This record gives sequence, C-alpha cells and structure tokens, in this order.
Amino acid sequence: MDFSLSPETNAFRLRVRDFVSEHILPLEADRAHYDDHENIAPHVLERVRAEVRKAGLWAPQMPRHMGGQGLDVVGMAVAYEEMNRSIFGPVCFNCAAPDDGNMIVLDKVLPESAKARWLQPIVDGKVLSSFAMTEPAPGAGSDPSMMQTRAEKKGDRWVVHGRKWFITGGGKAQHFILLAKTSDDPRRGLTAFLFDRDQPGWRIERQVPIMGPEDHGGHAELVFEGLEIPDDQVLLKEGDGLKFTQIRLGTARLTHCMRWTGMAKRALELACEYVEQRHSFGQRLADREGVQWMLGEAAMAVDMGRLLTMRAAWLLDQGSFARKEVSMAKVVVSEALHKAIDTAIQLCGAKGYSKDMPLEWMYRYARLARLGDGASEIHKMVLSRFLLAEGTDFWSWT
Ligand SMILES: Cc1cc2nc3c(=O)[nH]c(=O)nc-3n(C[C@H](O)[C@H](O)[C@H](O)COP(=O)(O)OP(=O)(O)OC[C@H]3O[C@@H](n4cnc5c(N)ncnc54)[C@H](O)[C@@H]3O)c2cc1C
Repeated sequence: MDFSLSPETNAFRLRVRDFVSEHILPLEADRAHYDDHENIAPHVLERVRAEVRKAGLWAPQMPRHMGGQGLDVVGMAVAYEEMNRSIFGPVCFNCAAPDDGNMIVLDKVLPESAKARWLQPIVDGKVLSSFAMTEPAPGAGSDPSMMQTRAEKKGDRWVVHGRKWFITGGGKAQHFILLAKTSDDPRRGLTAFLFDRDQPGWRIERQVPIMGPEDHGGHAELVFEGLEIPDDQVLLKEGDGLKFTQIRLGTARLTHCMRWTGMAKRALELACEYVEQRHSFGQRLADREGVQWMLGEAAMAVDMGRLLTMRAAWLLDQGSFARKEVSMAKVVVSEALHKAIDTAIQLCGAKGYSKDMPLEWMYRYARLARLGDGASEIHKMVLSRFLLAEGTDFWSWT
C-alpha cells in the first residue's frame, strides 16, 4: 500500500500552496477585502481570479479542453486542502460549492452538445450556479422522497410548481439544477432539470439569513409558479433524479471534506503559532502537557478524516460511488473540523474569539458541516444499513 503522492500531484500541490501564501492569505487581515456577507469582496475576487488563471491553476477539477487542469479526484483532494488554508481560497480557484459540485456532475451527465451552453460559462467563471433540492417542511430535507415540488409534462415542456429553500448562491446564480417530483413511483419519481435564471415563472421569495458567513448569492428561498422547462433541459432521463443526486453528491460531499481538512489544518497552524510564543506561569503554552494533549487529539482527528477522504477519493477514481466511504469521511471530517477550530480558539484565548483572527469566522462556518449535504445522523443511518446488509463484508478489502 503506497500512501505517497505522485511527483505531478505533489508539484501541483506546492504551486497551489505557494499561490495561497502569496496572493490569498494576506487578504484576510484587511476588512476592506470582505463584502457585506463576510466573503471575499467581488472586486478583490476578480483580481485574484485573474492571477489564478495566469498561474495556470484555474478550475483544476475540470478537463483541460474546457480550460481546467484535469486533476483526478485524489489530485483534487490534495489541491483543495491547500486552497482552504485560506477562508477565501476555494472560490478564487473556482473550486467552491455549489459551482464545484455542479460542474463535476454536469461534465459527467450532459451530452457534449449541451456543455457549451450550460457548463462552459460556469467553468469560465462567467456565471454562478445553484443546486435546488431542499424544501421547507413538509417537503424534502433529509428524505428526498418527501419532495413536494412537482413538474408536470405538458407537450414538450415541463411546468413546475413548488418551493425550495437554503439554495446556496440562488441570489446570483444564472444556471440552476432543480430536483422535482414527476411521478409517485417510489424509486423513479424524481427528475433533475436545468433552468436559466431568465426563464419566467419563478421568483426569489427571500434570502434566508444564516449563522455563518454567506456564500456569494446567499441562501435563497425560491418559489415556482409555473416555470416552464423544455424537455431537452431534463438531466439524464425522466425518473433519474435519485441517480442524478447520487452522482452529484458523492463527489460534492467529498470535496467538502477536502476543503474542510485544509481549514482544520489552518486552525491548528494558528493555534501552534500562538502557543509557541505565549507564556503563562513561567512556561510556554506549547511546553504544557495539557496543551500538547489538546493539540495532539485535534491533529489526530484531522488525519483520520484525511485518510478517509483520500480512500474515498481513490475509490471514486476507480469508478466506484464509494457511498460508505464518502459517508464516513463526511461525518469524521465535519467533527474533526469542529474539534480543530474549537481547540484553536481555546488555545488562542480571547484573541481566538476575536475578529483579529479568522478562527471565529471558521467556527460559525463549521457548524454547517454537520448539517449540509446530509446531516451526520443520515450518514450514520446509511452506514448502519450497509453494515446490516453486508455483515463483516462491510470492511471488505475488495
Ligand atoms: C448553509 C446551508 C446551505 C445549504 N445549501 C443547500 C443547497 O445549495 N441546496 C440544497 O438543496 N440544500 C441546501 N441546504 C440544505 C441541506 O442540505 C439540508 O439542511 C439537509 O439536507 C438537512 O435537511 P433539513 O434541513 O430539512 O433537515 P431535516 O430533514 O428537517 O432534519 C433535521 C434533523 O433531524 C435529524 N434527522 C433527520 N432524519 C433523521 C434520521 N432518519 N435519523 C436520525 N436523525 C435524523 C438530523 O439531525 C437533522 O439535522 C443547505 C443548508 C445550509 C444550512
């Protein structure tokens, strides 16, 4: 078993690392670089994105012929971790959710003839995209089979009525992926569609305010009042909605884990810098066993999450859905992220709690990790289903 990185993957990692250190990390300290929603200000983002392109690091998860760098999933894991050393990192490389997951799935499922219209503008960073699945109760949340938004076939068009909420980026997205119910069949009742912001028959009811910093375009509540979608904007086939979400969410969930590992490492990097300098009662904090145990436990948690992430990434590269492995990574990395940031805030004392450090930003952001893209309890439920079905084969090597 070889845990080392290929020379190419490591070289790309180092280029991303250097870029983040030189061009992105220094931006965090100045509030003028933030927008009103605590994300990187659009004019600063544009400047950095131009530098990313010049450095040949743009959209590394996308194929080269589309302007990306053609990384495999293991390569992405390594690069994304380096990007999220900065809270602004992933969006500068066009690797932030939800565009990232949307691009990956559209590249897999769209016919080549449709990619120029729907995918290339997202890859180029010309438009933003959203993924609209979650609904307010009694609609689909953890359980997609509870979907209330309906699409009804009328001639060669589908007519959509319903409501979605927490749709990340919805306020600014041009291209939307929408999940709707198209029949009562328990397995083939959902269908995935594409629609453009300019198509009439839907509106943004409000932006849902959240605890953490906002993505560009916020978290929108959308109302569909007769949106008409042509039949050629169905993704895969009618009734393939669950299959589509499985293809999207496998990699998309894992890319969260890749980014969160980078953020967790940064939190511990900040904690180490502080405890190596700070003294109390005649001793450096770093020399105290109580502090060492806190750091050691958090570092170990981050590494456990990273190992699970890398195994799932490798399996995805082999063509597997890696459902168990992605679920395990999602649960463990989201908890490791919390542990790392919480430990860092504790060890940095009042400064860690203040806006002089990015730790409080990360702490509020991180609460999402145990909820979004499947709450931890749902992933554990999925894992227990596998265990009950497979018995000791759950841990099979093949
Ligand atoms: C910041 C943010 C961004 C988001 N972005 C998007 C987006 O872009 N697109 C999108 O479609 N959705 C998005 N979501 C929604 C997210 O995916 C859902 O919140 C998530 O799937 C859970 O659904 P829910 O909130 O309806 O929780 P519910 O289904 O109401 O569940 C509530 C809680 O109940 C528990 N629970 C539920 N079922 C079980 C069970 N079977 N066993 C044990 N416990 C259970 C869990 O603890 C769960 O957290 C976003 C959410 C947030 C907070």
